[in-house]
Amino acid sequence: GHANIGVVGLAVMGSNLARNLASREGNTVAVLNRSRSKTDELVGAHPEAGFVPAFSYEDFAGSLQRPRTAIIMVKAGGATDAVIEELIRVFEPGDIIVDGGNALFTDTIRREKAVRETGINFVGMGVSGGEEGALNGPSLMPGGSDESWTTLGPILRSIAAVAEGEPCVTHVGHDGAGHFVKMVHNGIEYADMQLIAEAYDLIRRGTGKSPAEIADVFAEWNRGELESYLIEITAEVLRQVDAETGRPLVDVIVDQAGAKGTGAWTVQTALSLGVPVSGIAEATFARSLSSHPEQREVSRALPGPSAESAAQALQVDDVDAFIEKIRLALYASKIVAYSQGFDEIRAGAAEYGWHIDLGRIAAIWRGGCIIRAQFLNRITEAYAATPELPVLLTAPYFVDALTRAQAAWRDVVAISARAGIPAPAFSSSLAYYDGLRAERLPAALIQGQRDFFGAHTYKRIDKAGTFHTLWSGDRTEIEAEDTH
Ligand code: NDP
Repeated sequence: GHANIGVVGLAVMGSNLARNLASREGNTVAVLNRSRSKTDELVGAHPEAGFVPAFSYEDFAGSLQRPRTAIIMVKAGGATDAVIEELIRVFEPGDIIVDGGNALFTDTIRREKAVRETGINFVGMGVSGGEEGALNGPSLMPGGSDESWTTLGPILRSIAAVAEGEPCVTHVGHDGAGHFVKMVHNGIEYADMQLIAEAYDLIRRGTGKSPAEIADVFAEWNRGELESYLIEITAEVLRQVDAETGRPLVDVIVDQAGAKGTGAWTVQTALSLGVPVSGIAEATFARSLSSHPEQREVSRALPGPSAESAAQALQVDDVDAFIEKIRLALYASKIVAYSQGFDEIRAGAAEYGWHIDLGRIAAIWRGGCIIRAQFLNRITEAYAATPELPVLLTAPYFVDALTRAQAAWRDVVAISARAGIPAPAFSSSLAYYDGLRAERLPAALIQGQRDFFGAHTYKRIDKAGTFHTLWSGDRTEIEAEDTH
């Protein structure tokens, strides 16, 4: 065999990744798809790529140099297991199987363990950037063993997006670490999108500006500290006019947000790890709320502020000042969302024994992926200064930004509540922030309640030990065994 890399699964992602690989000096790419037609189509359409087509797993294995390296890009779930089973049959110890699909990290942990028994290496790799990224440079988040990274590293570096001269790929950590980080990336993406949507809604309802005028606001924001792909495309979407009706496209689109489930995975995982990713959770729930038209229909008559009191709450006499407040609230809430996401990665790494360089993760998200942004450099710098930083938003740069945003952020949350405009991500981010900085939390009362109904015990601020009050007896306190 003379191909140095192979791709299995030639739908849009796999064929674009295969073309990207083939376009790099020194690569010869073997390609295989379950149904022959996709292989014929790809090879026929791109003679310049010099693909080595295979029509069976035996052919495929035979066309690859040792150690054989194959990237799977098939439908996540059972299809991935089916392809792995076939590859194990024809590969040998030392070969490398990479799953580039959107797998749940616990599936990746399971697969890595099972494949390792055969002596073959298995790498779960997060791929971000959609079809465009796959073709021109994705952000790549491979997990797996150090041994596989030695072989894979140079190949992946050659096809990844480049940000400020650096390829957007790093060996994230062992087994499922890459897919875990990709999952959290998607969760942060949900939060970022929801925050932008809330900002748009407040500006629109607060100032009466048209979508095209708000597009200009976002384009302007994109020249400052909010500069990012998501802000940039928001301006594009808002500027779009529907050809059929002549109305802004955003007014013609049904207001029910879809989801493929990675936001939910991020939240479910955070719940198990006990990490409060409230911004990501609110963003995920906001999509769910939007997608229940029957519930929204029956709720439309519920009371809320009158048009007059809403207008009064908004008090937008200085439109520019109002927009600047929203920009600051958006920036502050965004800092919270990223801080929460990195907290989840930190907790996941601790739980699963991964050594994840958080600063590197921010760096490889600067290119190729949906959440690419200037802002990520600040995260890399924060972790470079303090690698063990327990809360990202306590880094000096972010403290400075949060200080500047304080008054505006609180104002925006208060205004939205008084005007009856939902801003779940803005408000939950602020509540998280105030919770973190609180001297005392009412968690003390919750411990009292838990002790009352379940004898769950509590600790005291003034002495060591575990205590229980005899609530149904004479209400004296006893020292309890520390078992709850
Ligand atoms: P799809 O998810 O639509 O999957 C189609 C491919 O899977 C086809 O090649 C199909 O083969 C193959 N397949 C399906 N079932 C089987 C099976 N049982 N055995 C073998 N092959 C099977 O393709 P996409 O290109 O959209 O996505 C590929 C992967 O990349 C997915 O895991 C997806 O989640 C992920 N993805 C990532 C994105 C990103 O931004 N990172 C964006 C989009 C996708 P056949 O032609 O024979 O039907």
